[in-house]
Amino acid sequence: MTQPASSAPPPAPAPESGHYDVAIIGGGGAGLTAAIYAARARRRTVVFERRITGGQIATTELVENFPGFPEGVNGFDFAQLLLQQAEKFGAEIVYDDVRALVREPDGSFRLSAESGDYHARAVIVTAGAEYNRLGVPGEAELTGKGVSWCATCDAAFFKGQEVAVIGGGDSALDEGLFVSRYASKVHVIHRRDTLRASAILQERAFANPRFTFTWDTAVEAIHGGEQVTGLALRNLKTGAKSELPVGAVFIFIGQTPNNGLLAGLVPLDAGGHALVDLNMQTAVPGLFVAGDLRTHAARQLVSACGDGATAAIAAEHYLESLPAAAK
Ligand code: NAP
Repeated sequence: MTQPASSAPPPAPAPESGHYDVAIIGGGGAGLTAAIYAARARRRTVVFERRITGGQIATTELVENFPGFPEGVNGFDFAQLLLQQAEKFGAEIVYDDVRALVREPDGSFRLSAESGDYHARAVIVTAGAEYNRLGVPGEAELTGKGVSWCATCDAAFFKGQEVAVIGGGDSALDEGLFVSRYASKVHVIHRRDTLRASAILQERAFANPRFTFTWDTAVEAIHGGEQVTGLALRNLKTGAKSELPVGAVFIFIGQTPNNGLLAGLVPLDAGGHALVDLNMQTAVPGLFVAGDLRTHAARQLVSACGDGATAAIAAEHYLESLPAAAK
């Protein structure tokens, strides 16, 4: 039977300023999906994002493996749809950097951001991970001058030039394939002689006439002045040194979890990812971690979104379980 309109759930009560049921730290796929679920459960929901919503996906040209998009979907467009969907159900987005997360004696949480303190009964941390740095001379100085961690952002600046991509994983090949639309040649520099990237990306890269591979090789320095001009390389098997003239270098050598808010609060694994159970629940009641920041994540958009949904559902059960006075 169709429910009369009057039986629709009442809107969530107006929040006391800065007080929420669910606070989500990080506005990537995991965080925005958690927000859709929490807000749709009529919980006062806030998402903190320090840069642009969408996280890593916002700078991905084409997401080809999210179910339901046989032609693929632009990552930025997808992120905008998630954002619209979260806001439609009433989630608030606060563009601010949460600097501290503290569990109060009553079991609630205080989040200290640049704009002030916020309070929540449950927190879902989806802060993701940052791309690793090589740590070689020239890398920091030439960032934004040809050193990049985002092919979709920067590849077009190097049309017709030779560029280098560092790393042998999915990111290196995925981004390298994008770079090859513009660059005349893409030199993949990898420290071993086999790639860890998935078979389909390897097939595409090996079939691409603009790709060339330099194996068993480390970058020792990035040279340049106003712009990158080349790389100093060392063969790790022979020790032979060489110079490679390139106009840009795209670095994809893995990621480090953004666990600063969690250190000392919840146990982490050896790689710095939060230990969680199957509900994304950490050892701290009411504190959940979802997406790339949690242990054993598949590090895919679809799994991050799934994690976000799981965490929000678990947070709802947690809020339901609180004594009436604390709800
Ligand atoms: P990753 O899989 O950890 O690969 C990192 C690569 O960088 C490896 O080849 C590694 O070499 C190399 N490396 C690490 N440290 C280095 C150093 N100090 N100097 C030189 N090379 C170094 O990281 P990722 O490629 O960023 O991928 C992360 C996750 O996202 C993965 O699960 C991946 O499947 C997923 N992802 C998926 C897609 C897709 O499905 N289209 C796209 C992007 C990312 P070794 O191989 O020798 O360790």
